Amino acid sequence: MIAVLAGGVGAARFLEGLVQVVPPEMIVAIVNTGDDMVFHGLHVSPDIDIVTYTLAGIVDPLQGWGIRDDTTHALSMLATLGAETWFKLGDRDLAVHIRRTELLRAGWTLSQVTDAFRRALNVGIRLLPMSDDPVVTEICTPVGWLHFQQYLVQRRARDEALGVRFTGIERARPAPGVLEALCTAEVIMIAPSNPVVSIGTILAVPGVRDAIIASPAPVVAVSPIIAGAPVKGPAAPLMRAVGLEVSARGVAACYRGLIDVLVIDQADADLADDIRASGVEVAVADTVMRGPVEKRRLAEATLVAARTAVRRRSY
Ligand code: GDP
Repeated sequence: MIAVLAGGVGAARFLEGLVQVVPPEMIVAIVNTGDDMVFHGLHVSPDIDIVTYTLAGIVDPLQGWGIRDDTTHALSMLATLGAETWFKLGDRDLAVHIRRTELLRAGWTLSQVTDAFRRALNVGIRLLPMSDDPVVTEICTPVGWLHFQQYLVQRRARDEALGVRFTGIERARPAPGVLEALCTAEVIMIAPSNPVVSIGTILAVPGVRDAIIASPAPVVAVSPIIAGAPVKGPAAPLMRAVGLEVSARGVAACYRGLIDVLVIDQADADLADDIRASGVEVAVADTVMRGPVEKRRLAEATLVAARTAVRRRSY
């Protein structure tokens, strides 16, 4: 079984490649929930939804989030009624949040809801929220601490990021199955996701980092930073905010002591020696996931990198 630490868009695309080379029932994705937020009284889990919609084949391919060809009648009416509608939620997307909220109010856990939804949408891989307990990723800015969604979506990352915190993390327990997956996995992968606010949040859940360190499985990460910039999203200011260089070298530094090998893009091949010297093995691949072929190749390269790490360890 392969355990994959996952954020939103980058992870979802990576998992699309992985299911082409590994049977889906052999994959467990542990997904960030620090970006979850209540909108219109409804519990929205953006990263879980992005991964679910993508693997179900219904994601909006241009945005990478939301549902393809969705309409926004409910949001328009909400705006007419005076609601804040800066977080775009389509009509079919809203149905997911209505049902999730209804089940959570009836006593289901987020894990149970997530599993029910991925089965209803024919997603073969198991999806585990990192925790069923509330954790809120917040960004420190000159205007104060902002919820990650306020920082990114409402204010479009225009405020200087000065720091990051995960409110509630000390009391958060890993969701059922998370530690078991990490302890029994043959390979642990860290998807090309934001290392600070997607992967960093999962790693901050008490017990998760220790479980990865204790695991005998090879741990391989894919760099979300290519040629000094993220493919999309706010990784650059957030990496700087926590003192990391915005480069594959910075990603290696972020995961040092945790991973055996980092898959970096061929555009960053000149950083390989430097990263190896810091104690992290490197594999160079084309990591830009343009379409199904590139996604599959990246999944294959990541698996090969993990197997090489196993061989090295056994010598
Ligand atoms: P978010 O929560 O939707 O922002 O999603 P993630 O945290 O999973 O992903 C954001 C990260 O994915 C960004 O840092 C991107 O650079 C990275 N990413 C997105 N697409 C690609 C890709 O094709 N290749 C690589 N290597 N990284 C990618």
